[in-house]
Amino acid sequence: MKSLEALPGIGPRVRERLEKLLGPRPRFIDLLLHRPSQVRVRSRVETVLSAGEDPVTLVAKVIGHRPAPRGRRGPYKILMEDGKGILFDLVFFQGGQQWWAKKFPVQQKFAVSGKVDRFQNKFQITHPDYTGPPDMVYRWSGPETIYPLTEGIHKARLKGWIDMVFTEVWTQPSLEEWWDAPTLAMTKVLPFEDALRALHEPNPQRWAQAMTRLSLDELLASQLIQQQARSRFQEVSATAYPIPDALRQAFFEQLPFTFTKAQTEALAELDQDLAQDCPMIRLLQGDVGSGKTLLSFCAALNVLGAGDQVALLAPTEILARQHLKTLQPLCEALGLRADMLLGGTKARDRTTLLEDLAKGRIHFLVGTHALLEGEVQFKKLGFVIVDEQHRFGVNQRLKLAQKGGTPHLLAMSATPIPRSLALTLHGEMDISAVREKPPGRQPIKTALLPLDQLAKLVTRLDQAIERGEQAYWVCPLVESSQKIDLAAAEERYEALRNFLPHIPMGLIHGRLKPEEKAKIMAAFQAGEIKLLVSTTVIEVGVDVPQATIMIIEHGERFGLSQLHQLRGRVGRGEKSSSCVILHGDRLTPTAYQRLRAMTETEDGFRLAEIDLKIRGPGDFLGNQQSGQVCFRFADPYGQQDLLRIAHQRAREIVMADPDLSQPRHKPLWPLLEIFRQSRNQDNLMSG
Ligand code: ADP
Ligand code: MG
Repeated sequence: MKSLEALPGIGPRVRERLEKLLGPRPRFIDLLLHRPSQVRVRSRVETVLSAGEDPVTLVAKVIGHRPAPRGRRGPYKILMEDGKGILFDLVFFQGGQQWWAKKFPVQQKFAVSGKVDRFQNKFQITHPDYTGPPDMVYRWSGPETIYPLTEGIHKARLKGWIDMVFTEVWTQPSLEEWWDAPTLAMTKVLPFEDALRALHEPNPQRWAQAMTRLSLDELLASQLIQQQARSRFQEVSATAYPIPDALRQAFFEQLPFTFTKAQTEALAELDQDLAQDCPMIRLLQGDVGSGKTLLSFCAALNVLGAGDQVALLAPTEILARQHLKTLQPLCEALGLRADMLLGGTKARDRTTLLEDLAKGRIHFLVGTHALLEGEVQFKKLGFVIVDEQHRFGVNQRLKLAQKGGTPHLLAMSATPIPRSLALTLHGEMDISAVREKPPGRQPIKTALLPLDQLAKLVTRLDQAIERGEQAYWVCPLVESSQKIDLAAAEERYEALRNFLPHIPMGLIHGRLKPEEKAKIMAAFQAGEIKLLVSTTVIEVGVDVPQATIMIIEHGERFGLSQLHQLRGRVGRGEKSSSCVILHGDRLTPTAYQRLRAMTETEDGFRLAEIDLKIRGPGDFLGNQQSGQVCFRFADPYGQQDLLRIAHQRAREIVMADPDLSQPRHKPLWPLLEIFRQSRNQDNLMSG
């Protein structure tokens, strides 16, 4: 048997449905790896009074039928009496009286199985899972495996295929163990194939054991691929750059302040990496305004001091410009030349710029994706700084790294994520953190406000702008979607202009051309625009110190870290700042909890931890790293100990020989093949 179609009942249409369930190009092993969401016990009970959250099975007698009142829509109800004389309803939203009367004759006893709810002080079972003759209660009770299913693929069918794969396909001689003996002894996990079978056994303990083994394997596979990427990057040696004492001293003399303790500690880590001929691959995490840019520039001086070049890659043109604005004067004061390359750089300027770059006359180059193009050649690129690294794939990072030798690589992120997730997402990188802000920052007053209080807010905003303040107003989407009631930036802009016609306003969103965006930002920076309505395009890095008010509409639709980033646009100057988070009226408790966290802390690391705890890793990563983590089994945050084991083991393996295709690594090949669909692999292997 070669493909899933060899199984009975799988044709093109069913296959398509299976793809929904199992992911693209499903293999036999993907059926076996189809993870039950839960194993639970369906208990046999005498009365609905004993029912809890899980479904139960009981025998009950039909007392009477209660169709929906004539002419009104409503469910069909059958009144039942259980073994203790307690009444409850079976509730159906389909079928007519004739059908139900025939199926459930009055006074007859039935076995009924399903989840018992209370509705208007009565017990009911809505759409029972099973109904049939009384002796079926024995069949319909006991532990059961719950699978994620999809239309047209019910559980019996799926289970049939899984069993068939076990008996007819998965009959190869057993796999060689890919874990080392000490780890096996320590973790006491099941052998892989036992785990595969245990996964589908309706036994909660066995299921849990299977989950542990398969999580560990999945984490190992993903860590291996990351470590391999790391070692591939580090195959070629880099230039070692010691600290240039005089240049660094000159730099510090220029600064009107001293580095914070956190900055100094992180700088020491960068210095140490740069002083090796093994290329740095480091992630620097820290809140907006924690001084990462300056810190990375200080490290860059090690390279510049040795006469080599540095590139800073920014995710947007606005940010590239801003970086140049800060760094150019610093460079000039030290006798170095900084320049910028953007997608829209005019051909003539571009030609001279590229020439200067190739000749080594430009020392520090700031730019966007345009830096990645093949014709951009450096004389000697020693260090690459990637700002807001999550916008760049690993491949792009490697591509840039290939521009002549292997430069040291530093990725900076203002979206701190907890360490366990950082390891999972960026296991190929070392991690530094700046968890402290420069002194003297004003706290940002943060308040939650229901959207129906908008009018009040607008009045206060009007007064604040009268006093000379400047404000951002962030909306989640560019155009209103008919279905979802999102406040669209364009509509909001028009509405605000009607409310506040005397206030100079701007609108900025992702569909504008970069020049247009830059123009609007410049006007805001110059104070010509007082209120800037925007979509999340301003999310990253924009620095307008005199802006003091941040209004975020439908805050519940943003991730916490995104909200935190947005809030970080204000509170950058001397004046005190505030942030108002507007929310819809039907907040879920979870959404409320998240928004509350915003009012309680300004620490991005703390917020990330809270968000991760409340939402779980899938949703947490959802908007910033969409689709980048899709573990089937592992929950790297909940299973930090497993993650650590896998990380450690992957390091050892790759250290022994980074080429995983070598025969000594043969036992690992099936592992990598089996878990090849984890996102890490896809992401890195396509490079
Ligand atoms: P980040 O890149 O982390 O957002 P920046 O390096 O851009 O932070 O710094 C934000 C602001 O704080 C800049 O205006 C910078 O000059 C200032 N800054 C950086 N480090 C310090 C420090 N140690 N003390 C005071 N101000 C600092
Ligand atoms: Mg920055």
